[in-house]
Amino acid sequence: MEGIITLKVSEKLNLINKEIFTACERVGRQADSVKIVAVTKYVSNERTQEAVDAGLIHLGENRPEGFKEKRDAVSGNVKWHFIGSLQSRKVKNVINEIDVLHSLDRMSLAKEIQKRADQKIDCFLQVNVSGEEQKHGLSPENAAQFVEELANYDKINVIGLMTMAPLTEDEEVIRSCFKQLAVLRDSIAAKNLQHAPCTELSMGMSNDFTIAIEEGATYIRIGSSLVGE
Ligand SMILES: *Cc1c(COP(=O)(O)O)cnc(C)c1O
Repeated sequence: MEGIITLKVSEKLNLINKEIFTACERVGRQADSVKIVAVTKYVSNERTQEAVDAGLIHLGENRPEGFKEKRDAVSGNVKWHFIGSLQSRKVKNVINEIDVLHSLDRMSLAKEIQKRADQKIDCFLQVNVSGEEQKHGLSPENAAQFVEELANYDKINVIGLMTMAPLTEDEEVIRSCFKQLAVLRDSIAAKNLQHAPCTELSMGMSNDFTIAIEEGATYIRIGSSLVGE
């Protein structure tokens, strides 16, 4: 009988680290300026634990359902990133269980976070750079104004911007999307807002993370090619 060979997370991590290293080298970045968020949304608690044991610290989940159970099942030094779109009515279930939110995209969500969070939480604004209708996120035109409006929300610390590139084979389209996010990040950071240092860029997934790194990603969100079973 032939079995399906599944690589260990540690083996996949070695391969990805090599790709991160060479991508950084191409653009003169330090490899440790890129953090991996291991997206464990599709995998079991056991596989998630394997990721932590392989040394991954940042884990990404995208559904409030089952999140607490997974969090409780996994032990170790973990920072939990919520990367999925978050309905306002579910904020109370997750906001005090996570370390970083990647999907702040509307004022009603900010209001609910302000109401429910026990302490200040690091957030990425999700920006819909590609403009695809089915994608969540603020339009690039509205992002700066949105950040300004968060000044009185003392539970929200805007650490950066997040985007998802369009699903396409066209590398230049993907690259342009990441470039635009970096420009927008820089323009917001330049305002030196106390509530929005906006130094980080969350962009790049399994298929496009090397491009994202070349364009300045500081957090890449990798699921299938890292923890896929
Ligand atoms: C699922 C998901 C990822 C990871 O996708 P892969 O292609 O499996 O690497 C990254 N970011 C978000 C927002 C996701 O929902």
